[in-house]
Amino acid sequence: MSDSTPYDRFREFLSRHDELLILSHQDPDGDALGSSLALQAALQARGKRITTANESPVPESLRFLPGWETIRVAAEVPEKFGAVFVLDCSSLERVGPSAERLVARDAAVACVDHHAGNEGFGDPRLVDVEASATAELIHDLLEAVGLPITPEIAACLYAGIASDTGAFRYLNTTPKILRLAARLVEEGADPALTAEALYARKSAGSLRILGLALASLESRAAGQLAALTISRDMFDRARATPEDADGIVQYAKSLLGARVGVLIQEPTLGEVRISFRSDGSVDVNRVAGIFGGGGHKNAAGARVKGELDQVREAILSAVEQAMNGGPASPRG
Ligand code: 5GP
Ligand code: MN
Repeated sequence: MSDSTPYDRFREFLSRHDELLILSHQDPDGDALGSSLALQAALQARGKRITTANESPVPESLRFLPGWETIRVAAEVPEKFGAVFVLDCSSLERVGPSAERLVARDAAVACVDHHAGNEGFGDPRLVDVEASATAELIHDLLEAVGLPITPEIAACLYAGIASDTGAFRYLNTTPKILRLAARLVEEGADPALTAEALYARKSAGSLRILGLALASLESRAAGQLAALTISRDMFDRARATPEDADGIVQYAKSLLGARVGVLIQEPTLGEVRISFRSDGSVDVNRVAGIFGGGGHKNAAGARVKGELDQVREAILSAVEQAMNGGPASPRG
């Protein structure tokens, strides 16, 4: 067994199962759902019966992905599955409680992921922390097992890559991912439409909550740490949902001189959701880990129970400590 490649294990997994469930992390982004839909389409073309589900409903901003309307809300799926793909998740729990309930106790679980803190679950596994997006790994997997890339699949994979690289702006924008993106465009992906859908189609609520969030700007550590805060009351005043706040963390990170940007939100009283973005000189995956979260070195998140101001103080102090500890490394 030890000399078989991960792709051999996937071939075996696919030959053994004709009915499969595809899951990805809760509060899904373009990589989670783009990867799921690409894999679903490819496996359906091979005659597999596929159910794709997520803990959360498909965010408005991702309702351009070909096939998005086939994604089911996990709590509304009655059956359990004996074979499951878990995509873009560092642990099985990341799928969320209702989604995890769809995984039968003795299920065969396949994992495809690129998170730094991947816990090593699943067999077969395709985990590469150097990959820019899970969509990159799904592309490699489809190629390795001989599943053709249709225009719809290309569109979904491209959206996953565009989403996780911030439209080719983040530190994970490698020559390899740019070449792959070019090929996906040749195969039918539409860069302008994708960028428009991901970054330039905002609801009124999301613009109102952005305005309130920007007014909350707080800068610490001589401007090297920028934080934005959205309280439950601010969501109410803006008539906005937590989904409307997606992407706002980028504005914190965009402050001139900021090494780390943090968005602290209170979607419901007593529950705080944190997003971290770093310029590469601070490992925010490790800071998120202190609070039970995770992610990547330059982009991470966590959910913490507690009162907003107290949690914010704890989070910002931890980031300041991480900034002071150890020499800065420019990238990685
Ligand atoms: P975002 O800030 O966009 O929600 O998430 C940034 C990155 O951190 C993503 O890769 C996401 O998967 C990860 N992440 C966000 N929240 C959590 C969390 O609560 N737990 C873990 N393990 N990872 C998270
Ligand atoms: Mn991802």
